[in-house]
Amino acid sequence: MKKPIIVAMDGPAGAGKSTVAKTLAKKLGYLHIDTGAMYRSVTLAALRTKADLKNDDQLEHLAKSSKIELKPGEVENKVFLNGEDVSKDIRTPEVTQASAFIANCVPVRKILVARQQQMGREDSASYGGAVLEGRDIGTDVFPDAQYKFFLDASVETRAKRRYNDLVKAGTQTTLEAVLADVQARDDRDYNRAVGGLRKTADSIVMDHSDLTVEQSAEELFQYIQKHPKN
Ligand code: C5P
Repeated sequence: MKKPIIVAMDGPAGAGKSTVAKTLAKKLGYLHIDTGAMYRSVTLAALRTKADLKNDDQLEHLAKSSKIELKPGEVENKVFLNGEDVSKDIRTPEVTQASAFIANCVPVRKILVARQQQMGREDSASYGGAVLEGRDIGTDVFPDAQYKFFLDASVETRAKRRYNDLVKAGTQTTLEAVLADVQARDDRDYNRAVGGLRKTADSIVMDHSDLTVEQSAEELFQYIQKHPKN
C-alpha cells in the first residue's frame, strides 16, 4: 500500500481550522484527525476524576489509560472517551479553560503525539491520507508532512466571529471580553514551552478571513491538486 499523504493544518484558535479541515478531508477522501479533541478528552477525564491539573504524573496516567477514539460521521465527527460519546461534553467553556493545563503537560503531549502519528501513518492508510489539525502538527507530529498549511486570521476577526457565535447561541458577553479571551488563548498557544504554535519555513501561510469555509477548503484542495506529491 502507498504511504499515506499527510496534510498538516495548524493555526490559532478561531481561525476556522476545524470546519475547513473537515471539509478539505471530505474533498480529498482522507481521514480527518482533530488533535484538539484529544487534548480536550484528556481534560474532560481529568475534570471528571478531579485530578490535580498541575500534577504531571496524574495527568500522564490519565492520558495513558484513556481510550480516545475519533470516529468519522456523516455530519460531524464523533469523539469517544473510554467508549462514551463525549463529542458535546468536550466543548464546554470549562473544558476549554482547563485544557491549557493539559496542553502544557509534556508527558501528556508525548503520549498524544505518538497516538496522532500512529493514526496518521496507520489508520489513514485505507483512506490514502489524513488531514491533521492542531497547533504542532507541522512542527512536532509530522515535521515531514507533504503539505503544511498555517491558517491565520487577525485576532480582531477571530474575536468578532466568536462573539457573533456566542450572541447567536444566547450568551451574554461583550466584544471586549471575547477579544481578551482570544488574546489570552493566543498567548498560551504561541508561548507554550513544548508544542507551541509556530510557522515553519515550509508552512504555506493563508489568511482566509474573507472566505467562506467552502471557499477556503476549495483553495487548499486546489493547491494540493496543483502540487501532487510522491
Ligand atoms: O483546537 P482546540 O481549541 O480544540 O484545542 C483544545 C486545547 O488543546 C487548546 O488548549 C489547545 O491549545 C490545545 N492543543 C494543543 N495541541 C494541539 C491541538 C490543541 O496543545 N495539537
